[in-house]
Amino acid sequence: MPQNSPTDIADRIRHFHALLPEGVTLLAVSKFHPLPSLQTAYSAGQRLFGESRADELTAKAAAMPPDCRWHFIGHVQTNKLRRIIAAAHVIESVDSERLLRLISAEAQRQGKVIGVFLQVHVAAEETKTGFTPGELLQCARDCHDFPGIEILGVMGMATNTDNADRIAADFAAIARTASLLRQIVPTATRISMGMSGDWPAAVAAGSTDVRIGTDIFGHRQ
Ligand SMILES: *Cc1c(COP(=O)(O)O)cnc(C)c1O
Repeated sequence: MPQNSPTDIADRIRHFHALLPEGVTLLAVSKFHPLPSLQTAYSAGQRLFGESRADELTAKAAAMPPDCRWHFIGHVQTNKLRRIIAAAHVIESVDSERLLRLISAEAQRQGKVIGVFLQVHVAAEETKTGFTPGELLQCARDCHDFPGIEILGVMGMATNTDNADRIAADFAAIARTASLLRQIVPTATRISMGMSGDWPAAVAAGSTDVRIGTDIFGHRQ
């Protein structure tokens, strides 16, 4: 069980930077962790952070150095979209065409281009949000040329289970969806999958972006 002393956080950041293969980006998922933990990660070389709440994202982005980049990975409440777009570079949790249209409109209003991942649902849990693979591809066909957005790839989660076969099958399904997306949007080359418990299997299945919280910062309060 990871503790979260400053030396441990810095060591784990360096460990992941050394361990992850070339071409795999580390998103440090800092949600619910206090600012000093992010500052420690920053001092160890981390620049990319993931947050899941608009208020926390806004406060941390304002307090951290300006060369940090911020990915929003939580459920997007549309009444908070203005603040999310003001602070985030990328929204990974895009799960409806309606949301994508709203992001496009608000990003244009703010004169920004927001990177987006389309979230696909393949896990067994009912509660995990996202498009079905078919819906995701239809959304990409309908929306890929919207102004103010750049579709970067697919984000997904595997079933929360100890069954390695099920996890591998889920990551394969996410990667398959990503390769179909690339036939529609050739520049959408990224695959955001893999978390603390399962990232090695995700990397083996082609992940380009792992989202690690607990294994860096310890357990969330
Ligand atoms: C919280 C979260 C993570 C990080 O989870 P850990 O198990 O702490 O590594 C990754 N992705 C999403 C979408 C999350 O909400």
